[in-house]
Amino acid sequence: MIRLYDTLTAEKKPFEPQEPGKAKVYVCGPTVYDFAHLGHARCYVVYDVLVRHLRASGLAVTYVRNVTDIDDKILKRAAENGELPQALADRFTEHYREDMARLGNVAPDVEPKVSEHLPQIFALIQSLLDKDHAYVADGDVYFAVESFPSYGKLSHRDLTQMKAGASERVDADQSARKRHPADFALWKAAPDGVQGWDSPWGRGRPGWHIECSAMSQAHLGETLDLHGGGLDLVFPHHENEIAQSEGASGKPYCRHWVHNGFVEVDKTKMSKSLGNFFTARELFERVEPEAVRYFTMTVHYRAPLNLDWTLDDAGNVTGFPQFEEAERRIAYLYATKQRLESLPAARVIDRPDVPAPEIAGFQKALAAALDDDLNMPIALAALSDFLKGVNELCDAAMAKKGKVGTKVVAAAREGFAALHGRLGLGAQDARTVLLRIRDRRAAAAGVSAAEVEQAIADRVAARAEKDFARADAIRASLTEKGVELHDGPDGTTWTMA
Ligand SMILES: [Zn+2]
Repeated sequence: MIRLYDTLTAEKKPFEPQEPGKAKVYVCGPTVYDFAHLGHARCYVVYDVLVRHLRASGLAVTYVRNVTDIDDKILKRAAENGELPQALADRFTEHYREDMARLGNVAPDVEPKVSEHLPQIFALIQSLLDKDHAYVADGDVYFAVESFPSYGKLSHRDLTQMKAGASERVDADQSARKRHPADFALWKAAPDGVQGWDSPWGRGRPGWHIECSAMSQAHLGETLDLHGGGLDLVFPHHENEIAQSEGASGKPYCRHWVHNGFVEVDKTKMSKSLGNFFTARELFERVEPEAVRYFTMTVHYRAPLNLDWTLDDAGNVTGFPQFEEAERRIAYLYATKQRLESLPAARVIDRPDVPAPEIAGFQKALAAALDDDLNMPIALAALSDFLKGVNELCDAAMAKKGKVGTKVVAAAREGFAALHGRLGLGAQDARTVLLRIRDRRAAAAGVSAAEVEQAIADRVAARAEKDFARADAIRASLTEKGVELHDGPDGTTWTMA
């Protein structure tokens, strides 16, 4: 039984889709005018884990995540760049998809774009006009909040509270056209020279909120099983989606509302205007994308995620201790996976050994943690126990005359498969990841891989000539640089200390 906190009822409750066995999931996607930042990474890792967990629990999930490719921020940035708005939006949509893939997120089943759903948006606005939930004013169309008595139910506020907040954010012209200060635009007239589309109400652009109601209905029907997004979307975006969708259909819009917490830096919500903004790409230059993924899972998805970094005297960012720690965990994960994969066949025998509890119980522990409001920190604690168990298994196999049973090894392999299935971790080739981490650490320490390989070759030559003093001196000089040599039957390998 999966239980998730529901924003509408403000309680943890069982996730019960309308049609048993199926889950219609809609998540608000990005506005594509810039690169994805850590806030996006966190948000979409949360819903990726949710979708993976639902699927691993046997549900047939349809995952829809939109792309907002019509927006004032896109127009502004395109004008600054001197390029067409759609070209800018398409470019950043591609960058965004690349970044999400590098984080290990599965692609949504449907990724609808606003620019491709204008007919559905027109139809929904017309339906709201027909039902007197909306009105036309000077080429704009507004939703009349007073026509929808339960307006405010998601964000747990009432219309009197909204008057103050809403009236501050709109210009005087717009205020004069509205019947109630909290009324919001479904369609905005576009002045000449500004991007616009012809509509039954004149040339203009859709309001932001209407797109999600129109696109979710187009791809999932009138009632969704689960809608997700950042906490900042509860009001007004999701509140408005409910008003639009329920106003038009007369049916409940969504059975379960999930919202994730912010990324905070210096206890402040991460935002570009504060100058403390890191794109996902900038972070991927410094650490493995999978370490970024891991880091976002270290706190509960509803809690704020605080990011720390270190600075040099000139104020340049020198490091991210939390990412570095996460990367150490990822390196440990892959080193463990590599050990398990390279157990010699002669050490694994057909014997009815019982797996250690950390291995045998891992899949259940993982599922149970995620069932309980997607508790990823608890899932990572179970992972930590599992990896310890697998290392002990490898130690036992590699001990003098050591052997382990096939069932035990199979259980450990299944654990890795479950880890990938539910958390999206550990799916890459272990050797590739470990070498990449090593070479990045070496470069950060000013050590080049080619230089180390040359030194290893020189040491081999020195030993062949029985010049052990020189061989030892080469080793010592590498140790000084943080390079550790490992002599094995297949030659010498190296790691960074
Ligand atoms: Zn949305």
